[in-house]
Amino acid sequence: MSRRRLFLDMDGVIADFDAYMKRHNLTGDEVKQMHGAYLQLDPIPGAIEGIRSINGMGKFDIWIATKPPTGIPFAYADKVQWILNHLPELKRKIILTHDKGLLGDYRDYLVDDRPHKANCEEFEGTLIPFQNGMDWQKLVDYFKKAPANIGERQAIYRIKQSVGTVQRQWLEVVCEERIERLAWLEYNRLVAENQEKYFELTVIEHREDCLAFNPIKS
Ligand SMILES: [Mg+2]
Repeated sequence: MSRRRLFLDMDGVIADFDAYMKRHNLTGDEVKQMHGAYLQLDPIPGAIEGIRSINGMGKFDIWIATKPPTGIPFAYADKVQWILNHLPELKRKIILTHDKGLLGDYRDYLVDDRPHKANCEEFEGTLIPFQNGMDWQKLVDYFKKAPANIGERQAIYRIKQSVGTVQRQWLEVVCEERIERLAWLEYNRLVAENQEKYFELTVIEHREDCLAFNPIKS
């Protein structure tokens, strides 16, 4: 069976576009139109090591999936050059697309810091937002626990809200890996509705049985 694919967004997940913008006091559009600007982006902390660590697990087929700046062809080339400089092992794994909904199937993963853009919502697999406190250490831990094959195991996900020292459990979901994106959707809904950044989504344990949603009474 082929490995599960892991599509990684570039800006905001692997390359630190925002830090460059702030450091040089430029707008996003100005950075996009500067020759060579993409080449100067620093990697997001932990990204290079994290990608190599996940690659080393051997369970996932890693691809870069990045939306290039529309109509600025040299920026397409600069983005590819960045990958060659920082992650040469992925030189045959680069996808430039404005539509990430075209990628993969239900077994696959997409990590993106703007999950509402580039048609990410149409991605059929598990969409992992790289926001609200997500970082590379958490991603590596997550993929360590993710099974190599779909449907092999089920997992319990817990969404927790922390306000100061008070912690509330919002929802505990048990779902098949195949529909684990439901846990992420619920998580995103709570964050959006409550305008909060204090939610956490954690995998409690993987298990073999049970398929049900169990809202926790708070
Ligand atoms: Mg991005």
